[in-house]
Amino acid sequence: MRLIPRWSLLGGLVAFALVQYYFWVFLPSVRTRPPELPTALRFYLILSWGALAALYVLMIGYISNDAPRRGMDTRVWMICVIMPGGIGAVLYFLLRQPILSHCPSCGASIEDHFHFCPHCSWQVAASCGRCYTSTRVTDLYCSRCGHDLASDHPPARLHAFSRE
Ligand SMILES: [Zn+2]
Ligand SMILES: [Zn+2]
Repeated sequence: MRLIPRWSLLGGLVAFALVQYYFWVFLPSVRTRPPELPTALRFYLILSWGALAALYVLMIGYISNDAPRRGMDTRVWMICVIMPGGIGAVLYFLLRQPILSHCPSCGASIEDHFHFCPHCSWQVAASCGRCYTSTRVTDLYCSRCGHDLASDHPPARLHAFSRE
């Protein structure tokens, strides 16, 4: 929810209101025949169309904030999501990259499974010195090979990073 910008919340409301206006005010004024559907069903359909339109706008807002965090091209993805049928939105969630963080030393993008910064070798996650499996900073022995982690002498920079 934090990732949805205010303009997109507002746009969602406007889209919802427009759909309501179109179906309740504009369409009956141009249509000569009375509607065939029972009122309850019509009510339900029009509300859900409105919700769908609002969801579209919210989705575009969400992607405008979410894509940069994942190092994905925001403009391309926002255009994709506007495509009809919601195909773009489905594709986005299938193809989106893991969230990137940044190396505290050099600022390079780091994926969450990295142990070391690929640009400056800053250690960003604890790992076993023998088998290189990820470990927790509080572990005393490697959960995979039983290696005594205290004998690895993890660098001070790792401790500083893990306290965040
Ligand atoms: Zn770095
Ligand atoms: Zn190990």
